[in-house]
Amino acid sequence: MGIRLAQLHLYVDNHLHDRYLSPPLALIAAALLTNWVPTAWAVLWAVIELAIVANYIRVYQAFKRADVQPRDERRWANRIAVAHGAHMLAWSSLVFWAWQQGNFSSLIFIMMIHMGLIALTAAMSNAHLRLLALDMIFPVLALLGLPLFDPTWFNIGLSLLGGCFTALMIQVGRQINASTTEALQLRQRNEVLIKELESQAFRDSLTGIVNRRYFLTTAERHLLAARQHANPLALLIIDLDHFKQINDQYGHMAGDEVLVAVVDACVHHLRGGDCLGRLGGEEFALLLPDATWSEAMETAERLRRATEMLAVTVGDNVVLPTVSIGVALLAATDGSLSALMHRADLAMYSAKMQGRNRVVGDDLPSAPLAPTCVPLPSAPA
Ligand code: GH3
Ligand code: MG
Ligand code: MG
Repeated sequence: MGIRLAQLHLYVDNHLHDRYLSPPLALIAAALLTNWVPTAWAVLWAVIELAIVANYIRVYQAFKRADVQPRDERRWANRIAVAHGAHMLAWSSLVFWAWQQGNFSSLIFIMMIHMGLIALTAAMSNAHLRLLALDMIFPVLALLGLPLFDPTWFNIGLSLLGGCFTALMIQVGRQINASTTEALQLRQRNEVLIKELESQAFRDSLTGIVNRRYFLTTAERHLLAARQHANPLALLIIDLDHFKQINDQYGHMAGDEVLVAVVDACVHHLRGGDCLGRLGGEEFALLLPDATWSEAMETAERLRRATEMLAVTVGDNVVLPTVSIGVALLAATDGSLSALMHRADLAMYSAKMQGRNRVVGDDLPSAPLAPTCVPLPSAPA
């Protein structure tokens, strides 16, 4: 999320409190307004203001619900500026509703409303400087309008005093904005760092696939689910052939490039729920949930062929990697994940023995799994 969008979110979060603040304040202001205008006018003002509040709260809620992207920030800020600007206009217009020439109490009412309005705006809109500036336009215009109506030295003085107060409040708003922006930037940097750390905790940094620890945890989970629902589950152990020679001949960096190329080639052939992990070195494991024996063998053969087709260019050389793959299907006799992995491992070693660059299936007759949640029938007495 861009910093501007984060600021807009903070602005909206601050202003969502208006739901509780604005309606009672509007009713109090309307009640006070009846001192200087007919009750019907005061009621009309309150009705207009409450409708405006309802509208901008609706806009805020639409903003919070929408999945707003940084590129849409300006469009939403404009929409919010218009919706909230109507509210600022309604309050600023009290100058013209309540102003009574020579009436000191009406003047005090106007000035108090304006001081409150400007202070509240600085406090609530400071998260977004452009919106803070836009929110200040109507109160400032109303403040300047007062001596235009009644250009006494007293009113000019009050306007100047109001102007100084506004400048001070804007400065306070800018200072708060600077510190909240810093806090928002820090939060965003932390979020990125946390994501990176989380990713490092389960990803292999070279190939980008999951690491051994994460693979084993996922495999345990799938094994449990497969047993519970009597679903098939296949495991492949994939080992690069003569990888030490590649390292010795072309260097460790070239070896790394080959590892990445093989993983990239294999990843293209996986389904959504499959899990490919790096067990260590040049050895990988692939878990195929719900895969039958023939599906698992077909997948293994596809991966073998995809690797065989690779021609990895490292410097002036071309490396032609191959893999040996062992395949095992979860059987009722597998007491644990290690038992299943052991069988796939033995099959992989058998592939090595038979000349490498081949797929060998574990030869255990695959007894169908019984769901573990179904209780066994009790023995006859
Ligand atoms: P085989 O066909 O029997 O599997 O032979 P191999 O040479 O592939 O197997 P061996 O276990 O003898 O050697 C594996 C080599 O993989 C040794 C080790 O230096 C290398 N290796 C392990 N991890 C990495 C890595 O992250 N990068 C590179 N470049 N090499 C690695
Ligand atoms: Mg090897
Ligand atoms: Mg190995």
